[in-house]
Amino acid sequence: MLLRKVAAAIVAALAVLGVQAVTAAPATAAPRILYYDASQAQEFRAVVTQGAQIWNSRVTNVRLEPVPSGRTPNIRVYADNGWPRTYTSSLGNGTWYMGRQAVNQGYYQPRIAAHEFGHILGLPDRRTGLCADLMSGSSAPVSCTNANPNTREATTVNNSFATAVTARPQTFTWAGAAA
Ligand SMILES: [Zn+2]
Repeated sequence: MLLRKVAAAIVAALAVLGVQAVTAAPATAAPRILYYDASQAQEFRAVVTQGAQIWNSRVTNVRLEPVPSGRTPNIRVYADNGWPRTYTSSLGNGTWYMGRQAVNQGYYQPRIAAHEFGHILGLPDRRTGLCADLMSGSSAPVSCTNANPNTREATTVNNSFATAVTARPQTFTWAGAAA
């Protein structure tokens, strides 16, 4: 009788271990969800959404979603008359501005939005002057309408969110005084 109880206990323990082994090693990791609040982005709310959707279509380890009511956003988006710019607090967290100074100069709005989200996702400015680079920002011609990250930029973001690297607080500005 005692042996039977011990055997039952072992079977139960193995069952638990089996379940744990399955849950500990999923086939694919769920992407990290970052919530953004575009409610203060004024006339740019739609383009903010467009910028988020661009990233969602290019990366798999992180997703940008509109913040549900009652939840604190990871990302707040505002609009003002200055340069577009981003203030990061850590990887995936921060605030960015859709600045009318660049919009009024003719810079392509979806490119600005995707670029500033790129900073939130851990990418620095790389002023290569190339339109193919999303993070070249204002160094590419005003006529540049590429709003998509290139393969290297998308891979960098995927890798950052795969390994949960830490990022120190930083400020990035589209153009102008601050680098
Ligand atoms: Zn920038």
